[in-house]
Amino acid sequence: MATKTFDAVVIGAGPGGYVAAIRLAQLGKKTLLIEKESLGGVCLNWGCIPSKAFIAAGNLVDDIRAAAERGILAGEPKVDLARLRAFKDGVVKKLVGGVGQLEKGNGVEVLKGQATFVGPNAVEVEAGGEKARVEAPAFILATGARPIAIPGFAFGEDVWSAREALDLPEVPGRMIVIGGGVIGLELGTVYAKLGSKVTVVEALPSLLTGVDPEAVRIVQKGLRQRGVEVLLNAKAKGQRREGGVLKVTLEVDGKEQVVETDKVLVAVGFRPNTEGLGLAAAGVKLDARGHVQVDDQLRSSAASVFAIGDVVGPPYLAHKASKEGEIAAEVIAGKKSLRDWVAIPGAIFTDPEVATVGLSEDEARKQGLDPLVGKFAFAALGRAIAIDHTEGFVKVVADRTSKLLLGVTIVGPEASDLIAEAALALEMGAYLEDVALTIHAHPTLPEAFMEACKSALGEAIHAINRPDGTRRAKASAGAPAEG
Ligand code: NAD
Repeated sequence: MATKTFDAVVIGAGPGGYVAAIRLAQLGKKTLLIEKESLGGVCLNWGCIPSKAFIAAGNLVDDIRAAAERGILAGEPKVDLARLRAFKDGVVKKLVGGVGQLEKGNGVEVLKGQATFVGPNAVEVEAGGEKARVEAPAFILATGARPIAIPGFAFGEDVWSAREALDLPEVPGRMIVIGGGVIGLELGTVYAKLGSKVTVVEALPSLLTGVDPEAVRIVQKGLRQRGVEVLLNAKAKGQRREGGVLKVTLEVDGKEQVVETDKVLVAVGFRPNTEGLGLAAAGVKLDARGHVQVDDQLRSSAASVFAIGDVVGPPYLAHKASKEGEIAAEVIAGKKSLRDWVAIPGAIFTDPEVATVGLSEDEARKQGLDPLVGKFAFAALGRAIAIDHTEGFVKVVADRTSKLLLGVTIVGPEASDLIAEAALALEMGAYLEDVALTIHAHPTLPEAFMEACKSALGEAIHAINRPDGTRRAKASAGAPAEG
């Protein structure tokens, strides 16, 4: 068996691993990136990117349907699934190709195959029946996570995970989505817009647990408007085909019922990919929940092995994995980097979108704080009215005494883009005044963030500040709006 030696080896080429490899190469390390499937990992191939291509297509369908209200008469849109799939495949191909070019351009060697540790400083890589040994003083494990399967719902033709759903083989007439979390609601919304009658089955009493309940209510209203049924306190007990009909047994509020459907999408969370990697041979320990245990420099219990991204635990977010990849690479290159961020933004691509960074109002209260809260409704914002997307609000949470910004929740148009300014504000230790005093271009959606900060200070311009401290947003265009 041939042996190759590198300064550093990265296992897994998702947004954690491919970024780590580039950063290692930038820092002068002779780097090998090993991937068993496709460069870009789940994010580029079966997750973030293809889902966004479909979500944008779904939004387009929705916009065309609503266009008549603005005097644009396009008729009922028809979806050519084959062309939509081809568009999505083209998007993925372009980005995966781009990652390949970046690795090559930076001098990273890429090896396709399955890596298994045979010791703390060596892996064996199997590809097409051939085995190779690779040795290095440092490894970065970036093997990600995969969807959890629930008993009685093995993934296959009838039961999809996000991966099958993102192949978009068909738009089923009826679809049951098990799990009212991020994936369930993002993909449930897409399929509903493309024509499926979607039912979301969520075990807990609310959707999107952990997100500000006021924001969740607005997302739930958006689902309702698109004909999505939401069953809370509901569990899926089993499924079977009977006379060619797919039947799912649900338990809703303790009562069993059987529902007929055409497809089931299961999205009940992720579990880390730690199997088959020979982690014991390397001396890498897992924590109680099965994630690789790491310190703030991403070093595992084995001094030569670092781990990043989903495999070290939630939040399961591509940008968190990328950041950790950069940190681990820098630590390997001798820099004093560590996980010292203030907050990680999150964006949920429902309709409307939800984006968060830092503490929610509830989280602040649970921490025993008495936060100062400011809120501004998009219904009062000129730009939102002009683009006919007035649902939602920006809510800011700050320390009552110092006015330091602690968190921002946005639900509404382009929330996923708007959160970037809030993330920068938190990372730079901004106070409410910093945002309130920053001139925001008019008419734009980010004005809502400025107004929410002003609102917390009792200085909102496009809201009526009442003597009791409550305020009602007033549309800048003159139309009254709910606060
Ligand atoms: P999730 O944790 O977001 O949601 C899973 C939901 O399923 C929860 O609400 C849970 O209560 C519910 N559930 C669990 N078991 C159930 C059962 N038996 N019956 C009914 N409901 C049940 O998980 P996900 O949506 O699968 O996403 C996986 C991970 O990927 C998450 O951590 C998510 O944050 C991440 N992700 C993020 C994005 C994004 O940021 N836009 C997109 C996709 C995935």
